[in-house]
Amino acid sequence: MSDAALAQTDVYDVEGVRADFPILHQEVNGHPLVYLDNGATSQKPRAVIDAIGSYYLHDNSNVHRGVHTLAARATESFEQARTRAQTFLNAESSKEIIFVRGTTEAINLVARGCAAPLLNTGDEVLITEMEHHSNIVPWQMICKEQGAQLRVLPIDERGELMLEKFDELAGARTRILALTHVSNALGTINPVAELIARARDKGIVTVIDGAQAAPHMNIDVQALGCDFYAFSGHKVYGPTGIGVLYGRMPLLREMQPYEGGGEMIRKVSFEETLYAEPPHKFEAGTPNIAGAVGLAAALEYVDTLGLDRIARHEQALLEYATRSVKALDGIRLIGTARAKAGILTFIIDGVHAHDVGTIMDHEGVAIRAGHHCAMPVMKKYGVAATTRASFGLYNTLQEVDALVAGLRKVKEIMGA
Ligand code: PMP
Repeated sequence: MSDAALAQTDVYDVEGVRADFPILHQEVNGHPLVYLDNGATSQKPRAVIDAIGSYYLHDNSNVHRGVHTLAARATESFEQARTRAQTFLNAESSKEIIFVRGTTEAINLVARGCAAPLLNTGDEVLITEMEHHSNIVPWQMICKEQGAQLRVLPIDERGELMLEKFDELAGARTRILALTHVSNALGTINPVAELIARARDKGIVTVIDGAQAAPHMNIDVQALGCDFYAFSGHKVYGPTGIGVLYGRMPLLREMQPYEGGGEMIRKVSFEETLYAEPPHKFEAGTPNIAGAVGLAAALEYVDTLGLDRIARHEQALLEYATRSVKALDGIRLIGTARAKAGILTFIIDGVHAHDVGTIMDHEGVAIRAGHHCAMPVMKKYGVAATTRASFGLYNTLQEVDALVAGLRKVKEIMGA
């Protein structure tokens, strides 16, 4: 679809979108593939696959080093990808965009480079009960090393943050607030702008895990006012092994590098090394150039389609799926927040989530079963695992019907 065609119509042409994703057009176990595991990773449009292919076919070289033509082209593509990510997040400068492997690495980088020097014995890091393990474990590790305490903002039965507890937990010793924009296990969209503002008033550094937000909504880091924002390329229709950490420049200047090596230095001698300016200070070694090129194509694809339109489409899928699944007997929804992204998590009475996932796979429906790297959320609801359907920009209402038909079959087979 061209930009002009899109501008002329607000109709969401899901079939046109699906035509851009070659992988969707296959059968699995004799059924048309219904891919509802977008929360884990999303599929890639041809534009992304072609951009990576074209990079390797025509431009491959190392970046920032060579004087030859291919090196210049590779460097230009890599730096253009940075600018594309800047636009995507509405960062003030492309120098605030650091390429990393993904959200996990981004959070570890902030924990090591920014939090560790900030935390003294008795200081506190505040996270929430709905965090993914990648926004728990790095903080736990740093707290242990620094003699700091991890505090946890709880959630209620619906899966919403208990905001009334924030002031009690964010005290004089709190240095960091790290929270997810959208919960991967519950779908909850958190009021991050409000929490960032409240944290900033208290001088707390804010770190937002945007892994599940970036594919579903417009993100404006300047409007949010956060210090750090992280997302993974592979969940936003780009390749694996590439992600973005946004950091506000004053903090990036202060932040310590995570790894040392080539690319991140200004001058090296045996006595002393002078680091490069951000973002290069944090990008030691040869980066994932092809990944950045693919990510840029993915962000362009999503921006062209329009995140507002994508969000409207996915909300329609979520509402229809919620209504349809709720109408089935013996199914309990886990995560019923008032503001949700396209994630539907549930358990079927008397059936293990893995059995649900296996039977659904026989029907060609790909969903996720397990603890979703959010064991504290499972504990909160008293379950070992849940089943999750997560929607993407190419899913259809007919696929929601296939999900519901599959769940009926599960109930029939398992006598639930
Ligand atoms: N945070 C959230 C909310 C996630 O859903 C995920 C991925 N499941 C991550 C962090 C980690 O992302 P990655 O594995 O791409 O580093």
